[in-house]
Amino acid sequence: MKVKVWGCRGSLPAPGPENISYGGNTSCLEIRDGDTLLVLDAGSGIQRLGRFLDKKVKVIHILLTHLHIDHTMGLGFFAPLYNPDVEVHLYGPSSSSESLLNRIRKYFSAPLFPVRLADLPNHPVIHELDQSEFEIGPFRIKSEFICHPGPTLGYRIQHGANVLAYMPDHELQLGSANFPLDPEWTSGFEIAVKADLLFHDGAYSFSQYEQKVGWGHSAVRDTIQFAQLCQVKKLSIFHHEPTNTDEQLDEILRRNVEGKTFGFEIEMCKEGSVYEF
Ligand SMILES: [Zn+2]
Ligand SMILES: [Zn+2]
Repeated sequence: MKVKVWGCRGSLPAPGPENISYGGNTSCLEIRDGDTLLVLDAGSGIQRLGRFLDKKVKVIHILLTHLHIDHTMGLGFFAPLYNPDVEVHLYGPSSSSESLLNRIRKYFSAPLFPVRLADLPNHPVIHELDQSEFEIGPFRIKSEFICHPGPTLGYRIQHGANVLAYMPDHELQLGSANFPLDPEWTSGFEIAVKADLLFHDGAYSFSQYEQKVGWGHSAVRDTIQFAQLCQVKKLSIFHHEPTNTDEQLDEILRRNVEGKTFGFEIEMCKEGSVYEF
């Protein structure tokens, strides 16, 4: 499988010369094997994915972790939704209060957006998920609710012997009373355990996190502890706080890893990065 990052910024797009290296678009990953295409989240990064998409792809599966605006804001700008010859499947978390279809309709309606969902030339097929396991082409997918305001899923995607785990929005400190001492009781553990590549929320430095406890995101320090607990092979820290510049992100990573050894690779995720398994 081939994985490409089209956006890894959190909460709000953050274009600008100070963010060239890590990029400004919000959450969007492309996962491909031949003609099978999975798209994880529809943040602002999905707009460019739509523009550069291989024309041979006729079926697209978009898996939303949750409905916060930074993970859905690109949907209306995703060109394949205006092409009736492409089949689009939209997956997202179920909720006890409202159907996924109604929640997606809210985005495609006044005063937020000029085109209604029903008026799109392409009528996406909606799939509600909870603690689910299913297959799409060569991918085996498992979803599970994780700790973040509102129903939010983490995804574990297996392709042959390789596993990718994706939890862009996840507050580890609030996910377990005993973090990081209790693997079975740590939110997201089953999604990430022994993954080859984990994309995980690490929006803040620790001092930034202390000002934002309960907002749904994690400090880089906790993200690294979680990756260690789950025995992953590589951690890509995701959902960068929009006001953190390239220089600050490098500095946060340096402060968290300098002088320590970990049994796995750690990086700050960069828009445009490609991973092949
Ligand atoms: Zn987010
Ligand atoms: Zn969120």
